Amino acid sequence: MSKLKIAIQKSGRLSEKSIKLIQECGIKISNGERKLKAESSNFPIEILFLRDDDIPQYVEQGVADIGILGENEVWEKDKKVIVISKLGFANCKMSLAIPKDEFYKDIQYFSGKRIATSYPIILQKYFDSKSIIVEIEEIGGSVEIATGIGLADAVFDIVSTGSTLLMNGLKEVEVVTKSEAVLISNTALSTEKQQILDRLLFRFQAVQNGNGNKYILLNCPIKSLDQITKIIPGMKSPTILPLANKEWCSLHSVVKEDEFWDVIDQLKAHGAEGILVVPIEKMVL
Ligand code: ATP
Ligand code: MG
Repeated sequence: MSKLKIAIQKSGRLSEKSIKLIQECGIKISNGERKLKAESSNFPIEILFLRDDDIPQYVEQGVADIGILGENEVWEKDKKVIVISKLGFANCKMSLAIPKDEFYKDIQYFSGKRIATSYPIILQKYFDSKSIIVEIEEIGGSVEIATGIGLADAVFDIVSTGSTLLMNGLKEVEVVTKSEAVLISNTALSTEKQQILDRLLFRFQAVQNGNGNKYILLNCPIKSLDQITKIIPGMKSPTILPLANKEWCSLHSVVKEDEFWDVIDQLKAHGAEGILVVPIEKMVL
């Protein structure tokens, strides 16, 4: 039986989360010493550990069937691959930054300027779309020091918190695009590999759904049950269990992670007590 070959980053910002996602899908991988390859003992998958720059090419050629990498690398390498889904981690912006004391009004500032970046393709497309001519200096890394050493007037790079820019006396002036980790695939998978991919996607989905949600349990007076179920409708409707005290009941439901603080305040206002919010490992809708 064939195995689905998945390429992930060997070491870097994506490695740990890529492995964690695979493991949370119940897929066992033995890779104590970080070799080039690892297999799973309980799922037809083989993992290839590569530099993220190489993943689009390998997936295009079919050396790997699928891969996990930052969407920024997919855009930059511009290979023929399919972006199957966003994975919700390694979120970052791709921004233009200039020395912090420079006056900045609008994007015309960059006309005729030299900009250092590791992402020349994305940057060129951006300025082409604005009909602005710039000079792009491609460099491999440490882009943020380029203005300080007189290599360029501005930089275009990945920004997450902006602290690296600040440390180098730069300010972010334009967010060109936003990126996050994505799953890509080869354009011509065999039927057998497509079936394995579908099984894997089903599991990814369950893990992702779980991550965005919390399981909530609480006790509330029966008289406020109507109001409380309106606040947390749950996946279909909340589970309501009787308590020994006939005037009270226990209610279980699912709330969105980013909404639960608001919800909790409203619940307390309606007399809910003993509120527990617990993580959900997986959720199949
Ligand atoms: P490799 O050795 O595999 O080529 P790399 O140095 O190119 O690694 P990393 O710095 O590990 O790459 O970043 C991998 C990806 O993580 C980036 O392409 C981007 O999608 C994402 N990312 C998220 N936040 C940041 C950040 N603050 N800085 C850099 N990359 C980030
Ligand atoms: Mg790289």
